[in-house]
Amino acid sequence: MERRAKIVKTDQNSPSAEYLEEAAEIIRSGGLVVFPTETVYGLGASAFSSEACLKIFQAKNRPPDNPLIVHVSSFEMLFDVVDCVPADLIQKLRQVWPGPVTILFNRSSRISDTVTGGSGRVAVRMPDNVLALSLIDRSGVPIAAPSANISTRPSISDSRYAIEELGDRVDYIFDCGPTILGIESTIIDASGDIPVLLRAGSKSVEELRKIFGDIQVTDVSRGLVESPVAITPGMKYRHYAPKKTLILANSRETFVALSAEERFKDTVTLIGSSEACEMAKIPCISLGSEDELQEVASSIFSSFRELEKTGSRIGIIMPFPEKGLGLAIMNRIRKASSGIIENVSELQNLIGQLPLPDGRGLFREE
Ligand code: AMP
Ligand code: MG
Repeated sequence: MERRAKIVKTDQNSPSAEYLEEAAEIIRSGGLVVFPTETVYGLGASAFSSEACLKIFQAKNRPPDNPLIVHVSSFEMLFDVVDCVPADLIQKLRQVWPGPVTILFNRSSRISDTVTGGSGRVAVRMPDNVLALSLIDRSGVPIAAPSANISTRPSISDSRYAIEELGDRVDYIFDCGPTILGIESTIIDASGDIPVLLRAGSKSVEELRKIFGDIQVTDVSRGLVESPVAITPGMKYRHYAPKKTLILANSRETFVALSAEERFKDTVTLIGSSEACEMAKIPCISLGSEDELQEVASSIFSSFRELEKTGSRIGIIMPFPEKGLGLAIMNRIRKASSGIIENVSELQNLIGQLPLPDGRGLFREE
């Protein structure tokens, strides 16, 4: 691709008006802009332009039936995107927006099949990020924006990886450093009697239950099993995979036991909490404290990309309890992993089999 992005540095909490105006003009004229949200970086285009949205699919190499989340900056804008919202749902949305929660609605006639992958429903959220909200506002149109990574690759929570990966595929990149939350939004389908979690994300199910009542959590949303029929189209595709084999340790104990095996130090990189990595005799990428799952969430995607840059042949990652943010963290880890190991001898065997054939993953949704 010949396109070369203009890359601008600015503060995501108090963005330059000049840069915002330039980017808004690109959105209005059908171009692509990479911008921070509170979750991960988004690759945005006008949600009202089918042609512009088509460019998102091309830039990301995204399958056309995996629909885009539409970002709005106001409730007024929501009503341009959706067709008739129940009043009680609006009340609930006022408690979670702006924020990392995506809801499915019946779409309005202004939203094309390109955005929804042919579905009559559209996924919408209002991001909690000053730059993102101002960009949408100035553009005067809702912005369709999936995560700003090439399809199947880890999402991007730091602009330096967006520049590396998309610098020659988009028109404009806001270079604002790390995002606040680091994991994508929680997606729920609130249309039935009991809302269903479609994707675990930055807003925990425990928090959402206070507002939406009971929420059904399936093994699919935990990343444990593949969806037999794709409930949300994104579920059937492979996700987040680093270019180096990543293996999940079945328990914290197994992870710590492996970390003491100095003989693996040139072959293996560990990814775990600062506490679990403390005594490691193998190189370890720290995700922060296990008592602060927000730290872990905000470093998880960057850790996958750091692993790629090491000289190791394989990464071993530690599991986290599936409470609060742990649900979303484990979903991303399972989907990025090629398998699970229970002890040191299994690791030895696995190294003997490297490189694993692509797509061998236990948890991948291909
Ligand atoms: P991404 O923006 O790349 O993090 O992915 C967006 C996620 O939202 C994917 O898992 C999509 O399948 C899901 N999604 C977007 N729009 C819809 C929709 N209309 N119906 C169901 N799922 C959707
Ligand atoms: Mg994505």
